[in-house]
Amino acid sequence: MAITNEQLAQRRAISVARAIGSAHGLFAARAENAEIWDVEGRRYIDFCAGIAVVNTGHCHPRVVQAVQAQAARFTHTCFQVVAYEAYVALAERLCAMAPGESAKKALFMSTGAEAVENAVKIARYATGRSAVIAFEGAFHGRTQLGMALTGKVVPYKEGFGALGADVYHVPYPSPVHGITVADTLRAIERLFRYQVQASRVAAMLVEPVQGEGGYLPAPEGFLVALRQICDQHGIALIADEIQTGMGRTGRMFAVEHSGVEPDLITMAKGLGGGTPISAVVGRASIVDAVPPGGLGSTYAGNPLACEAALGVLDAMESERLCARSLAIGEQLRRRLKALKKRYPVIADVRGLGAMTAFELAQDGDLQCPAPALAAALKSEAAQRGLLLLTCGSHNNAIRLMVPLTIADETLDEGLRIIESALAAVCAKA
Ligand code: PMP
Repeated sequence: MAITNEQLAQRRAISVARAIGSAHGLFAARAENAEIWDVEGRRYIDFCAGIAVVNTGHCHPRVVQAVQAQAARFTHTCFQVVAYEAYVALAERLCAMAPGESAKKALFMSTGAEAVENAVKIARYATGRSAVIAFEGAFHGRTQLGMALTGKVVPYKEGFGALGADVYHVPYPSPVHGITVADTLRAIERLFRYQVQASRVAAMLVEPVQGEGGYLPAPEGFLVALRQICDQHGIALIADEIQTGMGRTGRMFAVEHSGVEPDLITMAKGLGGGTPISAVVGRASIVDAVPPGGLGSTYAGNPLACEAALGVLDAMESERLCARSLAIGEQLRRRLKALKKRYPVIADVRGLGAMTAFELAQDGDLQCPAPALAAALKSEAAQRGLLLLTCGSHNNAIRLMVPLTIADETLDEGLRIIESALAAVCAKA
């Protein structure tokens, strides 16, 4: 008999570190577009997309073909030892796509956290300053600096020692949670007055839609205001587009909705179609402040991943996935808002493009988050064949990271499962 999820879970419990979390007790056998089949042959609709990674769906033929062809040519030379065209071609395309008129340059890494680390290193080198401002609720990775920049203590910071990275946090504006843009701007003013002078700040790091923090879109005018503060004080504005980028919000990069040109953009997740690749793209004058040898990594910009990313960009263009993202987002929010009328536990429905979430709270009061209900909904939906993930500072929001290539019928099927699972958990509550 074929192996079961339970057998694999037992082996995993013995040999895999318990710190590595698990949202669903499943083991994948194969996946295609917006569906995953587990080792027992059960089919799931995938509204997680590997945490907003396979925006072009699982096993997009263009991506699979690109990786297979490259694997047969060579899998690794290290770009710093013997270079290859795919790295250069990907840099050219991302520099041309990045918002704003200024000349751009790019470098590649493997993970999102590394992209963040490198963006901060570049900003520090270019400005000759050290302090970095980030936001409460932000997620920027689990490396030492990523952890310091992340704005949530449990489970990311607690117990992991000193966070001495000259990092300061201010609240991220979220009017539905009572924090306005004016509140945040006042907090930055106070920070400059009481904690660190603006002339010592190298960078401000912001997610244009806060991701792990709850799918909170930057309110109108917020990014423009940050741009002005950064311009006034010579601070580099870094947009962390690791979760928001590659069409997730209906534009290639979420900052495009605001018209702001960041100095540096971090990308990862959706870029590689499931292969590990991340990027820092920014103003050439800033990126090139760092001299040769100052940045790099053995695997960074691996040829398999560069080819996969070129395939992702081709697929995004030829299938018009940014427009599709907007259409998916509209449909998700329309359906969820209709559900909100029937189920008061849905306290808020929000998002930008396909980057959409709904937040659960007792009696619809956002001051009373309902994380247990969110967890129950996630597992009830999984039992009915739909994979969901939570987010939010209280883990009480359900975020929908639908592959942008999803078929209309599958999207509808997934939404109907959310509806029936919600009815079931509310009946039990
Ligand atoms: N920044 C943001 C905005 C993210 O969402 C994430 C991952 N969730 C990261 C950084 C870290 O990426 P990685 O897990 O690839 O290191």
